[in-house]
Amino acid sequence: MVYNIAIDGPAGAGKSTIAKRVAKELSFIYVDTGAMYRAMACYLLDQHVDGTDQGAVASVCCGAGISIEYHNGEQIVLLNKENINGRLRTEAVGKMASLTSANPKVREHLLELQRNLAASQSVVMDGRDIGTTILPNADVKIYLTASSMTRAKRRYKELLEKGEDCNLEEIQKDIEERDQRDMNREISPLCQAEDAVLVDSSEMTIDEVVAAILNVFWKKTKK
Ligand code: C5P
Repeated sequence: MVYNIAIDGPAGAGKSTIAKRVAKELSFIYVDTGAMYRAMACYLLDQHVDGTDQGAVASVCCGAGISIEYHNGEQIVLLNKENINGRLRTEAVGKMASLTSANPKVREHLLELQRNLAASQSVVMDGRDIGTTILPNADVKIYLTASSMTRAKRRYKELLEKGEDCNLEEIQKDIEERDQRDMNREISPLCQAEDAVLVDSSEMTIDEVVAAILNVFWKKTKK
């Protein structure tokens, strides 16, 4: 029996931390779809494409051969056969991903990869349109959110721990801009699927969020 759990929500809501934990508890595969958009961003940066030029993005994005492998449970993203995990989490790549993920050709290019991964194995997949577009028949759909200030503070703490110089107001502004882009784009905008359970993690610990999601899963699959 293959189960699909979809976790959608805005940037910085804690989706990847939570999805990884839920996947571990259930021995499912964790699929980080944001990493695929980030891989596309790496390709576009390598090709020196202007991320705001949607025509240029559409015409070159098909050259990005993106595939996913799992090594000891860790997702490895390959761009034209090269492991690029080390490049994915920079601010420049995140910004390029946010700018270019609205492009229909980019989304089309990544849709099949995501659906194929979920068809053959039980997954916890996180992203923006998993419950609405990619896996509309997912067994469990979660919309995970938190206030923009909470999300900015989490990101700020993460960057400080990495020793990076950062500014809380700027991070919050950037998060709100990404929310606007993700929620207002024409194709696959970020929104809560009708049958998704809303989880606001602003006042919750990681353990509490994981327990809440597992609870939804057990209730839905017991029937
Ligand atoms: O979640 P993460 O920050 O890694 O995602 C990078 C970018 O990819 C986001 O800003 C968002 O615009 C885009 N994305 C998307 N659909 C997904 C996952 C990510 O549009 N399913």
